[in-house]
Amino acid sequence: FSFHGVFIVVSTKYSAVGSSPPRSTRHTPIQTAAASTRTDPPGRPAATMEEELHALLRDLDALKQLPDPASIDRMRDRVVKMMGPSGAAAAATRSKIKDMSAEVVDSNPYSRLMALQRMGIVDNYERIRDYSVAIVGVGGVGSVAAEMLTRCGIGRLLLYDYDTVELANMNRLFFRPDQVGMTKTDAAVQTLSEINPDVVLESYSLNITTVKGFETFLGSLKARSSNGRSTGVDLVLSCVDNYEARMVVNQACNELRQTWMESGVSEDAVSGHIQLLVPGETACFACAPPLVVASGVDERTLKRDGVCAASLPTTMGVVAGLLVQNSLKYLLKFGQVSPYLGYNSLKDFFPTMEMRPNPQCSNPACLERQKEYMQSKPARDAAAKAKMEAEASAAIEYPVHMDNEWNISVLDDSDTATSSVQRAATDILPEGLVRELPDEDTYVEPPAAPASCGAIDDDLEELQRQLDALNSS
Ligand SMILES: [Zn+2]
Repeated sequence: FSFHGVFIVVSTKYSAVGSSPPRSTRHTPIQTAAASTRTDPPGRPAATMEEELHALLRDLDALKQLPDPASIDRMRDRVVKMMGPSGAAAAATRSKIKDMSAEVVDSNPYSRLMALQRMGIVDNYERIRDYSVAIVGVGGVGSVAAEMLTRCGIGRLLLYDYDTVELANMNRLFFRPDQVGMTKTDAAVQTLSEINPDVVLESYSLNITTVKGFETFLGSLKARSSNGRSTGVDLVLSCVDNYEARMVVNQACNELRQTWMESGVSEDAVSGHIQLLVPGETACFACAPPLVVASGVDERTLKRDGVCAASLPTTMGVVAGLLVQNSLKYLLKFGQVSPYLGYNSLKDFFPTMEMRPNPQCSNPACLERQKEYMQSKPARDAAAKAKMEAEASAAIEYPVHMDNEWNISVLDDSDTATSSVQRAATDILPEGLVRELPDEDTYVEPPAAPASCGAIDDDLEELQRQLDALNSS
């Protein structure tokens, strides 16, 4: 019984004679993903399905004699009907796209992203396809972050969660009521592969806080992508909701020298944070747990039996947005990557700070990484100096900070000057484009109000003279 195979054949034939030929005839993992979760449509006896398939085969044979687009459309409709609602959705998705194009046509899913290059924001947007990101925890923040990265065309996405979709999750974004009961990773793969079949998706339905789960987690972070796009992963995003899981991600990343970003939303749903963690260079999660810093509450007391934490799609969406924005800046090397960014929704307050590693950290791997980081300082300084000299000879105007590989700076008085200088470098817009709002340095003061009523009186006298002149002529 090869229902799956028949669909692929029909789909290929249909595409080949359709009005818009596909860019690629390769088939996507959508069918695989959908097939693994699909069951026979309810209420349809197997015999009927078999009869349908035989009829389809007869039609296919007939096509060999005389290709007829109308009969192909009819066959496709029948196949989609047989697949049921979720299958029909999968059948409506596009095929893979080999190269990202900047071509401005309605059918190009990447035109708006590639425009970031033309706007001078990103040097080479297509590099996003070389990157692999692991998302640990596919809940209110992780699922939305996964969707954002998928829509941005990330090369490979690894998803980890042990939970299933529940109706109680529907106050958040991403998951749908018809996915209730599916594992969160399977449901995510189903949706994400439909949205963008170019992304290589790997789903791990496991608990990283178990011994076996941790081993699989470590192994998967090290593993090479099947399509040879990259070795290991470029970034790990922690989107888990408890202290223990964060400590496990911290342990894995410290061991692997893996840069990661942590995210969290408070129990009362009105504040959150993101944090960049570079083993040895910044504070690790064991050096200073961020939620403790942010709210003054030890998170270990947050997950109590029978106590239901509140959650809002808004706060989770904001935190996911901040997290993926920081990830895009880190991966595609634009703007400033935030070392820590808090969000207090009640006051719309976004605190930032830098956290150095704690020399008394309780995590041995963190201490090792700190030692390595200190030992590599001379080499790093030399590289930074060489880079600065190269840039100076290339006559680039803005300042480069010696001890600051990501151009991170703590907010102070000189910050305004720095940012306006840096903005000037990217200020040049392509021909034909203008900014809607004036820049702060080109803002023109409105003309001062008249100093006295005397000026107005003078104007009135002048007006009266002009009117008199008109009347007398
Ligand atoms: Zn540490």
